Amino acid sequence: MSILKGKVAVVTGSTSGIGLAYARAFAGAGADVVLNGMGALPDVERERAAIESDFGVKAVYSPADMAKPDEIAELITLGENTFGSVDVLVNNAGVQHVAAIEEFPIDKWDTIIGINLSSAFHAIRAAVPGMKKRGWGRIITTASAHSLVASPFKSAYVAAKHGIVGLTKTVALELARSKITCNCISLGYVWTPLVEKQIPNTMKARNLRRDEVISDVLLAAQPTKEFVTVQQVASLALFLCSQDAAQITGANLSIDGGWTAASSPPQMRSAF
Ligand code: NAD
Repeated sequence: MSILKGKVAVVTGSTSGIGLAYARAFAGAGADVVLNGMGALPDVERERAAIESDFGVKAVYSPADMAKPDEIAELITLGENTFGSVDVLVNNAGVQHVAAIEEFPIDKWDTIIGINLSSAFHAIRAAVPGMKKRGWGRIITTASAHSLVASPFKSAYVAAKHGIVGLTKTVALELARSKITCNCISLGYVWTPLVEKQIPNTMKARNLRRDEVISDVLLAAQPTKEFVTVQQVASLALFLCSQDAAQITGANLSIDGGWTAASSPPQMRSAF
């Protein structure tokens, strides 16, 4: 499937996890990609080179810090200068901090709002002029079940993810006549290396078996008791880039194993 042949995708936070899966899915559909995120340079270079050799497209990497508006604008410029356009923008970089509201560190609040919410504003603001000029664009932001429901101790993350929904709707309306769609994807618990690494310690700390940690701790809020996979997330993003998805805009699409359909108390809600 080469639905993105000749197109260029910028994916923030794509050095690991979900972001990397988006980048590989777009490359698999023919797009040149701009990778971004933190990580050891040799690891990033390995992933970048693998994208080029696996899919026969071009990939470049930018270490732009999504907490810094100037660097975000430069990330979009890098895509435009290197490949001639930015046609698909995925705002995916995200961080988390867990603390009671009265103890929530002010710098953590600012960082989470900066990386999880304001970075999407800055990237969209920088990418839209080029998309408008070319008359086509796809903007997708990784939100969370926490764009729809709250959990205690995650004030900044929940506020940022709720904010993404408002930003998505507003941008979708502004661009409705420009053949540019803007949507967000709200995830439940996704199986990533980060999640996998938590399991041995949790087994030890709670004296539980691996399957009990997965079902009763990690997936406490997810009715299917199964993780979302990064491939499932990337497949939806790729569909949003297709012509068949041209009338999906301003939407908040859930992939959460039924999490936000359930009415369990907030204490049951899990990590993301
Ligand atoms: P991850 O930690 O593997 O990926 C986060 C990415 O963001 C990494 O590439 C990291 O380098 C990058 N990043 C962090 N700070 C950055 C900064 N200042 N500048 C540039 N890049 C930065 O985690 P993930 O699970 O793949 O998360 C990706 C997105 O998915 C996040 O927005 C997260 O909130 C969301 N999400 C994840 C889950 C889950 O279960 N994993 C659930 C719901 C939502």
